[in-house]
Amino acid sequence: MNTLDVDYPKVNSAAIEQAQRDALEASALFQEDEKARLVAEIRALLQKRNAVLIAHYYTADDIQELAESTGGCVADSLEMARVGRDHSAQTLIVAGVRFMGETAKILSPEKRVLMPSLRAECSLDLNCPAELFREVRNKYPDRTAVVYANTSAAVKAEADWVVTSSNALKIVSHLKQEGRKILWAPDRFLGDYIQRETGADMLLWPGSCIVHEKFKASALIRLKERYPQAEVLVHPESPMDIIKLANYVGSTTNLLNAAKNSKASVFIVATEPGIFYKMRQAMPDKLFLEAPKEGEGATCESCSRCPWMAMNGLKNLLTVLNDGSNEIHVEESIRVRAVESINRMMSFSFAASPPACS
Ligand code: SF4
Repeated sequence: MNTLDVDYPKVNSAAIEQAQRDALEASALFQEDEKARLVAEIRALLQKRNAVLIAHYYTADDIQELAESTGGCVADSLEMARVGRDHSAQTLIVAGVRFMGETAKILSPEKRVLMPSLRAECSLDLNCPAELFREVRNKYPDRTAVVYANTSAAVKAEADWVVTSSNALKIVSHLKQEGRKILWAPDRFLGDYIQRETGADMLLWPGSCIVHEKFKASALIRLKERYPQAEVLVHPESPMDIIKLANYVGSTTNLLNAAKNSKASVFIVATEPGIFYKMRQAMPDKLFLEAPKEGEGATCESCSRCPWMAMNGLKNLLTVLNDGSNEIHVEESIRVRAVESINRMMSFSFAASPPACS
């Protein structure tokens, strides 16, 4: 792995534990009648405010269910951005993490973008602050800067291309064909996978996702021995020893489609388990198992849910609809530069395959 020697900010245990406490508060379990009241109020307010709920696959089941049943969308980050841009609603409620809200605002500056929690971060975004990225970028002027969608608006503004896990392989292959050398940020595991698949000359930022990096190959092998008929589906933010055990590697949308298209009836899935809502909904007869993260000495950091995604709950969703708080703002000088690299990706990606969620 050709990683940069850069002193980037790590996410420490205290920050993760704080996020887990916030997530517990946001995802409190309700009595059925209390939940029904919250859902009814949210439905009414979405209509009254001309708002649409766009949720990521990793949010809680009740958030995904609400998004689907109110004319919104459950999708990966690329599709969330497209739906937000093309939807007629003037207010976008983005249930996900901060960079997703920022991307929605970058593409739809005239709309109001609200998020259930502004504390919902992403370790990849936190690993790659804009000032440090700019400094490193300036050291490598001969390289094309390709950044993953999981970055701040300010980092996207410094990049030539933005990619997601759905389109990174195709875009990097395209750049390689053009003879470009690449500066990649911020996920070293996804970068390593893309580099091996494409053979491109890539210099990798050393960031990682705190959820995917915790999958354990030895425990996955043991689980596979118990379910020899199972296919292993892996998100490429996972380490290479997990990717090597996969029957299929792809983005959340691609993993969902791989399970639909497979004749197998049992799957071990190495990504955030929020995806199980859509998998079980689409394939109720198939069995989906979480890829293991445990091991000797496992800590609370080994919990399989992304604590920041879990900060999206019914109560804070209702609050932002009521009072219009948690609005996302992106400085115009940053937005106009970030939108160029995002639009480059969207033109490339949607020309290659039409959107899946409407
Ligand atoms: S699952 Fe990982 S990549 Fe996704 S939002 Fe959480 S920390 Fe970021």
